[in-house]
Amino acid sequence: MNIHEYQAKELLRALGVPVLRGTAVFSASDAGVVAFNNFVAQGVSAIVVKSQIHAGGRGKGTMHDPVTNEPIMVDGKQLRGVSVITSGNLADRAYQTAKRMIDNKLVTVQTGPEGKIVRRVLIEEGCNIAHEYYCSILLDRQTSTNVIMVSTEGGMDIEQVAEETPEKLIREHIDPVTGLQGFQARRLAFALGLSGNSFKSFVKFIHKLYDAYVVMDCSMLEINPLVADDKGDFIALDAKVNFDDNAIYRHPEYLELRDIEEEDPLEVEAGKFNLNYIKLDGNVGCMVNGAGLAMGTMDIIQLAGGKPANFLDVGGGANVERIANAFRIMMSDPNVEAVLINIFGGIVRCDRVANGILEALKVVNVNVPVIVRLDGTNAEEARTILIKSGLNFLVAATLQDAAEKVTEALGVSA
Ligand code: GDP
Ligand code: MN
Repeated sequence: MNIHEYQAKELLRALGVPVLRGTAVFSASDAGVVAFNNFVAQGVSAIVVKSQIHAGGRGKGTMHDPVTNEPIMVDGKQLRGVSVITSGNLADRAYQTAKRMIDNKLVTVQTGPEGKIVRRVLIEEGCNIAHEYYCSILLDRQTSTNVIMVSTEGGMDIEQVAEETPEKLIREHIDPVTGLQGFQARRLAFALGLSGNSFKSFVKFIHKLYDAYVVMDCSMLEINPLVADDKGDFIALDAKVNFDDNAIYRHPEYLELRDIEEEDPLEVEAGKFNLNYIKLDGNVGCMVNGAGLAMGTMDIIQLAGGKPANFLDVGGGANVERIANAFRIMMSDPNVEAVLINIFGGIVRCDRVANGILEALKVVNVNVPVIVRLDGTNAEEARTILIKSGLNFLVAATLQDAAEKVTEALGVSA
């Protein structure tokens, strides 16, 4: 589960990780009030207005009118997803900026060309940045450890750094049992070329951040940029949190942080029926029981020259209702040009699944070719049921056969 930057910062602040003072607002008028009361009135000389969406690249991203796609201009310049205000009437300019961000569309490399509508903005005090570093902690499944990654090349081009000069990304593997050791924190600080106060401040920072990663049950915690200010103090200027969904039951309060508007609507719909659905950008819808078989099916589709439109595990009890809901969700994706049903009847009997498919097709309009491969318990009966139905199925006997029929249906060659 993902959360917004401002929510991540509130959690981090509570755990002692240094972040700047800030407040999230949903309207431009609130932005103006917060900017004045919380910052200008207290002598703050720089205010940052940051759009809150579940995607990065905001600093380089551009704001557009969602209808006309025209760029949004402020003071003769195109407005970006992050705006630093250092002169003029700060509160009024924060108001004007928020007004042009909220309900407009932010396009970044991570949102794709369709962009995302900004609904909330974070009003934050500015800070004097001496240097921008990169810092993240994530789970390394290969070594079964957590890994801390840091770089002196932080900021908005870290993807390019990782690709072109990977040696500039410094890694430290942390055994989850023993946790971050003092010598490891110091090794990272040395590798960043720090000394004096900034050395001490970084070591303290990384301990706090690692503790937060563990306590919050994150699968990823990324601070980019992590900045040192003019006094050498380290501050998290951005924060991206991924919670480990398998541990979310330990933090029921985090569920309130969910922003449904940021999630894929079909995935939200599938979640209501406990269907394991992940939308992808291909053209072949697939309905499978079991995650492993679903992964295998996606490979088969790819080999056949198609691209999976989704991952969908209907689970063990593939009953009529589940199959109908699965069809409905799959068919709501306009990119789907064919459907491959691949069910292995282990516990569930294939003839029941076949009848389930027929029942489901009575209530859901499916207007693309449907390829069905059923194997396992009562597979023969199932095939007979499907063929006798008179409906336009392509019944496949084997996985290979299914792949070929997908190719045929799409009119492509592998
Ligand atoms: P992202 O592009 O979505 O990752 O958004 P960030 O939160 O990382 O902001 C992008 C850039 O805006 C940062 O790399 C900073 O250079 C700049 N920025 C963000 N917050 C501040 C701030 O408080 N003060 C100043 N001067 N710059 C900031
Ligand atoms: Mn960032």
